[in-house]
Amino acid sequence: MTSSPQLNRDIVVRFAPSPNGLLHLGHAYAAMVAHDFARERGGRFLLRIEDIDSARSRPEFVEAILADLRWLGLAWDGDVIFQSDRFESYARAIDRLKAMGVLYRCFCTRSSMRLAQEAGSQIDGPDGPIYAGTCRHLDPDFAAERARSEPHSWRLDVAKAAAMTGPLEWRDERHGQQVTCGEELGDVIIVPKDTPVAYHLAVTLDDARDGISHVVRGDDLFASTDIHRLLQALLDLPTPIYLHHPLLLDESGSKLSKSRDSASLSVLRQKGRDGYALLQDLRRGIFPVGISLSKA
Ligand code: GLU
Repeated sequence: MTSSPQLNRDIVVRFAPSPNGLLHLGHAYAAMVAHDFARERGGRFLLRIEDIDSARSRPEFVEAILADLRWLGLAWDGDVIFQSDRFESYARAIDRLKAMGVLYRCFCTRSSMRLAQEAGSQIDGPDGPIYAGTCRHLDPDFAAERARSEPHSWRLDVAKAAAMTGPLEWRDERHGQQVTCGEELGDVIIVPKDTPVAYHLAVTLDDARDGISHVVRGDDLFASTDIHRLLQALLDLPTPIYLHHPLLLDESGSKLSKSRDSASLSVLRQKGRDGYALLQDLRRGIFPVGISLSKA
């Protein structure tokens, strides 16, 4: 157990896994950093299940997440929060952004974007290719007509939004003060073709709704924070303090990931490993794998 200082209602931290696979050691580390950050300051530690993608989220992964956290000895406060209970609030924010004129319909498909990339009209950003803006200047009436028969997503017009807000600041406890115009990831998707809301908007709304004072999460989401900061400014939401922590790596130096089948916590748990001892090792900096200290 970590020490338990006086209760501090101003500190609220969350762990926000997506139940689309089994958690691995990197998640144990992320949950521990967020949990200990809250507990060392007498704050609250919330668990939010980010299950907006109904095609990929599965109840058995939710069960595994809860069992893994209990096995690690990480207790959360209050009820588990589910994003799938909150679609109405996301829809209201989407309407508001549409009314502000900062969203546009995008008809691009994966294959048309691959062609754009091959033709060199897309550049790479920290999260993969940056959208070339093909649909940004479509006539809205024409796009609305086309939308009657063609699947489409809605993207954030970052340049237009940033022109409304001006440069924005946010603070990271590890990486220092940041200034952004939100452009690093390009015009991100806010409403995907097949789900009611995308990660960037849901997480920004929920961090405000849950009263998160400190967003503690991995460096892989560092670049996303510029977009979240922009959405906060557009929607009059408070800006938490951020702490992006290092990521655990595997033996070959790659980031652990669900899709790479990195050793899952469930497997270790079912093999009878001591979860609490494992977490104590992570706390002491004994990593069974590597660690990346840079954001890139
Ligand atoms: N749900 C996200 C994930 O599992 C993390 C969200 C966040 O911490 O901002 O990668």
